[in-house]
Amino acid sequence: MLGLYVHIPFCEHICTYCDFVKRVKKDDEMIINYIKALKRDYEEIKDLKFDTIYIGGGTPSMLNLKELEMLLEIFKDQKPLEYTIEVNPESYTPKKGLLFKQYNINRVSLGVQTFNENILKTLNRKHTNKDVFNTLRHLISMFSI
Ligand code: SF4
Repeated sequence: MLGLYVHIPFCEHICTYCDFVKRVKKDDEMIINYIKALKRDYEEIKDLKFDTIYIGGGTPSMLNLKELEMLLEIFKDQKPLEYTIEVNPESYTPKKGLLFKQYNINRVSLGVQTFNENILKTLNRKHTNKDVFNTLRHLISMFSI
């Protein structure tokens, strides 16, 4: 099986335990330039047919709708069996969920970490349990799972 991993190295905040490659964006242009660079790289492998695509980070869900659309448009000709995006509950919106569905994303990896809100604060996570349940509720209604 052939898998494509796409890294989005931007986060709205830095969690205390994190070892991933990430940074807080300097400005919006930084993200647009990164997506353009991804597109250029992808041109070299676009004829391959991927069984899976995984968009991870960083925090892919922190991109705004326009940036997400620009990103997902790059891979629109792929028909992977499994198409995943990582989401942090505080940056999910129903409009982003609909966009994921429109581009045939069929798996969401949700960064919950813990339901203990004191530990979330210690970890410098910015979501609440309410954000997690709202995100899950919308995803379940949309994907009918
Ligand atoms: S949101 Fe994820 S990638 Fe970003 S700092 Fe926290 S753990 Fe690391």
